[in-house]
Amino acid sequence: MAVVTINSDVERFLAQPKKLYIGGEWVAASSGATFEIENPANKQVFAHCATAVEADIDAAVQAARDAFNGEWSTVQPAQRSILMNRLAALMEADSDNLAQILTLDNGKTLLHAKGEIAAALAILRYFAGWPSKIEGSTLPVSPRSGAPMFAYTRKEAVGVCALIVPWNFPLSMCLWKLAPALATGCTSVLKPSETTPLAALRLAELFDQAGFPKGVFNVVTGFGDRAGAPLAAHNDVDKIAFTGSTQVGKMIGQAALGNMKKVSLELGGKSPNIIMPDADIVRAAQGAADGIFYNQGQVCTAASRLYVHDSVLDQTLEQLAKHGSGYVVGNGLDSDTTIGPLVSAAQHGIVSNYIAKAVQEGAELICGGQAPAGMDHGHYMQPTVFLDKAEQTCIAREEIFGPVVTVMSWSDTDELIHRANNSDFGLAAGVWTNNLQNAHRIAAQLKAGSVYVNCWNVVDPAAPFGGYKQSGWGREMGKNVIDAYTETKSVFVDLS
Ligand code: NAD
Repeated sequence: MAVVTINSDVERFLAQPKKLYIGGEWVAASSGATFEIENPANKQVFAHCATAVEADIDAAVQAARDAFNGEWSTVQPAQRSILMNRLAALMEADSDNLAQILTLDNGKTLLHAKGEIAAALAILRYFAGWPSKIEGSTLPVSPRSGAPMFAYTRKEAVGVCALIVPWNFPLSMCLWKLAPALATGCTSVLKPSETTPLAALRLAELFDQAGFPKGVFNVVTGFGDRAGAPLAAHNDVDKIAFTGSTQVGKMIGQAALGNMKKVSLELGGKSPNIIMPDADIVRAAQGAADGIFYNQGQVCTAASRLYVHDSVLDQTLEQLAKHGSGYVVGNGLDSDTTIGPLVSAAQHGIVSNYIAKAVQEGAELICGGQAPAGMDHGHYMQPTVFLDKAEQTCIAREEIFGPVVTVMSWSDTDELIHRANNSDFGLAAGVWTNNLQNAHRIAAQLKAGSVYVNCWNVVDPAAPFGGYKQSGWGREMGKNVIDAYTETKSVFVDLS
């Protein structure tokens, strides 16, 4: 056991009062109130954050509007790239500190925290290349008047963006939204999750050092109802980019109607992972375990429904149980740990309830199923594998957002595809096979925004990410996301 020592920079950061970052200044919440931040590894409160309410949201939106109309609008595309790359360099230099902050706040292992930072840097650098490449086009119009006409499109920044993010990837979820917003010339107000707001505040410190004009990026910490809701409904916000639960996503959609702001939603999932009889079972079982247990299963694309062909079921279960019980559950700051605690008491309660209900409903417990013995000082949970061959329990249908996989068996491919697609969600899906025809045929048939063949959880800035059905609206990342942060204007010039 080797728990890392907290860096002195992180200790200094934690010791400072946590304020709101509005218009380039650190300000207390208008209410004067703060809320507690708990370390999920030991349930101890280690920081307090300012509780933003509607008046603070108004101030942050005003600061973003002033920056959008003011200095930021005069910054040339090439200079936006330079500033974004400067922010990336500052984040990279700070990555050891950022990783410790993520682990303290969310519970994830330091290794996974570093992976999250690498992913955040990749997207920032990808979009740092975009400002000088966002272009309109000339249009071959045919005016009825016969007049000579020059017509073209302009791509213009959509304006002030509200970015509302969850707690499972507190840093990378910010950058998925902030990076395209900066690239297109928008300004932003970020509301991180009340469960994990610290990485966003550290990001704001680095942003400040990077030299952006004041007000381009603002951070308001607080709760969903008192900070998130007024931000989502704000009449001076032009676009909202939200990641979180489907339930809150629907409320965001309603709130956006008031001024018809643009909306993108990345929501929940219950992703099917298919093992074909011709798969490399050792590799597939390892992939299935990684696909569900990574980040304690608190991943929107978690491979939580595992469909295994009858002929390889026993072999797969044996492998899965071996992987499941091989993880080291513990404090994410400990280098031996491979699975940290769940993020909060609330999440631990949700996962525990699902496990109890699955047992009641008759699912067969293969491994895990409870908190590890002697570890009730944190929100720990063992990696858990259930067998529910006929898919009759609630854990086969509902998003758990924890380290729990439901294994189901199948024998007929057409029926399998129907079962895999029979979900309100459609975020991710996967298939393990050594047969090329199976791979492409099934990839085409699965109703999901991302399909993984012989892999899982591959996310890349160049590849669009998002969901079918109730997993969301629109896509993040990839070149098309530029459209989500820009308006397209057609200009007609009569040359006669
Ligand atoms: P959540 O929906 O409870 O909260 C997400 C954010 O919305 C938080 O910042 C919260 O404060 C805010 N919020 C809550 N109520 C609000 C309201 N009425 N108006 C405006 N904002 C409000 O989700 P969570 O528990 O933080 O995260 C878990 C969920 O996120 C899971 O369902 C998971 O699938 C989903 N998720 C999806 C993706 C994706 O890319 N599709 C990624 C990560 C997480």
